[in-house]
Amino acid sequence: MSFVTCLKCIDCSPACEFEKQALYVCDDCFGPLEPSYDYERIKEELTIDKISKRPKNMWRYKELLPIDNEPTVGMNTGFTPLIKANNLAEVLGVKNLYIKNDGVNFPSLSFKDRVVAVALSKAIELGFDTVGCASTGNLANSVAAHSASAKLNSFIFIPSNLEEAKILGTSIYGKNVIGVNGNYDEVNRLCTEVIGSNKWGFVNINLRTYYAEGSKTVGYEIAEQLGWKAPKNIVVCMASGSLLTKIYKSINELVDLGLVEDNQTKIYGAQASGCSPISTAVKNGWETFKPVKPDTIAKSLAIGNPADGLNAINLLNDINSYSEDVSDDEIVSAMKLLAETEGIFTETAGGVTLGCTIKMLENGKINKDEDLVLVITGNGLKTQDPLVNNIKKPFIINPKLDEFNKIKY
Ligand SMILES: *Cc1c(COP(=O)(O)O)cnc(C)c1O
Ligand SMILES: [Zn+2]
Repeated sequence: MSFVTCLKCIDCSPACEFEKQALYVCDDCFGPLEPSYDYERIKEELTIDKISKRPKNMWRYKELLPIDNEPTVGMNTGFTPLIKANNLAEVLGVKNLYIKNDGVNFPSLSFKDRVVAVALSKAIELGFDTVGCASTGNLANSVAAHSASAKLNSFIFIPSNLEEAKILGTSIYGKNVIGVNGNYDEVNRLCTEVIGSNKWGFVNINLRTYYAEGSKTVGYEIAEQLGWKAPKNIVVCMASGSLLTKIYKSINELVDLGLVEDNQTKIYGAQASGCSPISTAVKNGWETFKPVKPDTIAKSLAIGNPADGLNAINLLNDINSYSEDVSDDEIVSAMKLLAETEGIFTETAGGVTLGCTIKMLENGKINKDEDLVLVITGNGLKTQDPLVNNIKKPFIINPKLDEFNKIKY
């Protein structure tokens, strides 16, 4: 059933074409690779009617995902709620606001469940029995969970100073978890060396070409959940920058396939000020980013040398879009605001998305009268540490009615 013909280099395509394999950079220019799809055939095969009749998970768009056989991992992943956020819209003065809530994704409560589902389905096709990743946290959770149910061995590398909940939420699955005394960029470099001497499939390294495509399902779902309509504006937080570029790609694919009308969709980036190589480049009009040493509570976004940073910058510049960054305090405020208005407890990364959105509404980069979708990528239960001293504590009383009646609210 495959609609993928080959892999091509993003930077020098279509000149260089590669066989489908565990290859992630171009031999010629070291640029990132991308699967090449036979869109003509997809256009003939894939209809809204066909998609609508399929189970409500990310694989309902399987023709647009880079696997050759039926999917084997992630059969319950995706199709997370798109929420009409009227309360928050009122506070922000926005006409039509939606929250795509991947904080309730399956199995591990973040958008990473999508990319891992694709990477591991592909790993199984390619014959790997051992997989792994270099992670800022959510990827570790997802690779551990998905590899457990897929009966794959896995080696999961994380910075040793991650949030307790993210470490526990990885270790519970009984896989090999390696905490490295270093930041993500150092963990990633180590993993590149590890797979050099082992025949393993690392989802965000040698399987990255396939992995990254899983992010497109966020965009397909948003369009379908809006009634097969492309939104005008989307805000996405960025670590490597991959999710942002792939959501944009997904909307354009739907337009090209004739499944939605072109709405000149614009996508906006969001980063934490303590790790904002992409946003800083965009705000300053630089053509590329300067790597940074991350220092932020948004640990899931703490990539100082982002693999898709250049792609993200080029895209945001090409479409005349923008990107913002917010301080740790602004992140916490935004997490609280989302919880208090919409009943959604997001992790620090979601605070980054909302915090940056508020800034871009204030400085006029985003038009309040156009419909706006915020992509909330992770769950607040995983990043509670920064909230502990910022949240109203419960009233503690003895089980006596008069003590309850005496509480001053
Ligand atoms: C990984 C991650 C992102 C961003 O991913 P990239 O594709 O690397 O930009 C966003 N939000 C959360 C919660 C994540 O874990
Ligand atoms: Zn190339």
